[in-house]
Amino acid sequence: EQNELRCIGCGAILQVTDKKAPGYTPESALKKGLESGQLYCQRCFRLRHYNEIAPVDISDDDFRKLLSQISDSNSLVVYVVDMFDFNGSLIPGLHRFIGDNPVLLVGNKEDVFPKSIKRHRMKEWLRQQAKANGILPEDVVITSAKNASSVEALFNAVEKLRKGRDVYVVGVTNVGKSTLINSLIAIRNGIKDVITTSRFPGTTLDRIEIPFDDHSNLIDTPGIIHADQMAHVLAAEDLKYVSPQKTIKPRVFQLNSQQTLFVGALARFDYEHSEGSVTAYFDNNLMVHRTKLENADNFYEKHAGELLTPPTADNLAKMPKLVAHQFSADQDSDIVFEGLGWISVPEGSTITAWAPEGISVVIRRSLI
Ligand code: GDP
Repeated sequence: EQNELRCIGCGAILQVTDKKAPGYTPESALKKGLESGQLYCQRCFRLRHYNEIAPVDISDDDFRKLLSQISDSNSLVVYVVDMFDFNGSLIPGLHRFIGDNPVLLVGNKEDVFPKSIKRHRMKEWLRQQAKANGILPEDVVITSAKNASSVEALFNAVEKLRKGRDVYVVGVTNVGKSTLINSLIAIRNGIKDVITTSRFPGTTLDRIEIPFDDHSNLIDTPGIIHADQMAHVLAAEDLKYVSPQKTIKPRVFQLNSQQTLFVGALARFDYEHSEGSVTAYFDNNLMVHRTKLENADNFYEKHAGELLTPPTADNLAKMPKLVAHQFSADQDSDIVFEGLGWISVPEGSTITAWAPEGISVVIRRSLI
């Protein structure tokens, strides 16, 4: 048995050689960590202290191996998604790895959705999305990791469905999985911040096991960076401006046909044919700028990175180019820029929506 050191944040084996691989930590930080007993990989350290996200390479193969342990187990799978970025939350092929085990689907970050959005519509939409990806959850719970009563509801749903079995928690990075697990454990054991302040040596493949009761464990699996997440496309300092920390205030725009909205320099909404006003749902500090469609190309060329931010001029060069997606709404609909927000449009509208290459833009029935 090797005496490896593990990150107390994500459970990865600490190493000092490969900056891009899981568990990387600079040697100086490793020494400090050993002295203080707070061993973090660089990624978790940054996440914890600066709320920065650094990508790691975990091979698809390792991840698949890890997930296939789930199909061999008799467990409840708790699948956490960020409702603000459903596509970015998808784990490709998850349905193949869960075997016959029941799934509890958790839509997190409820707190950023305005009260005007009906919760039962959100659940219905989550169910549909899950089904489209081959997953039929036993139940759907919407949570805010920041709200104790919703975490309690999640805890009750987990207890009801797990029937004494182990619980596997899966999710890509940045959906709020760690925050939720910490809150769940706190309810169970009355301990705060268990994942980030205590060490639970993983067994194999960087998984972390936390005793749930005498007979069963809650197993946290490492998140993977999804290529199509905003977190992947934007620099950390720009990402801060697009991930809402507070409830979104809807912004109404009286738009005519052939007018354009720019959302920073990150997204563009061309109202080809207007059927009336639109409502924009983005971080409250994110600037939405209106112009005529015929001037839009020039306007972007001239102002992206300056009047239109984020991203800043420096980071704009690194961002993938905007790609156009065409939509016509046969009912009241939302044009969703995954991870960024959405614009509600009335039935009969036609739209060209632009987002950085790799970021999905989808249409859904209005949630109002
Ligand atoms: P993980 O990578 O899935 O474990 O995600 P974390 O728990 O580290 O959370 C990622 C980011 O999302 C952090 O900035 C959290 O503060 C934020 N976050 C987590 N849960 C919520 C939530 O319910 N609402 C909001 N607004 N932010 C959340």
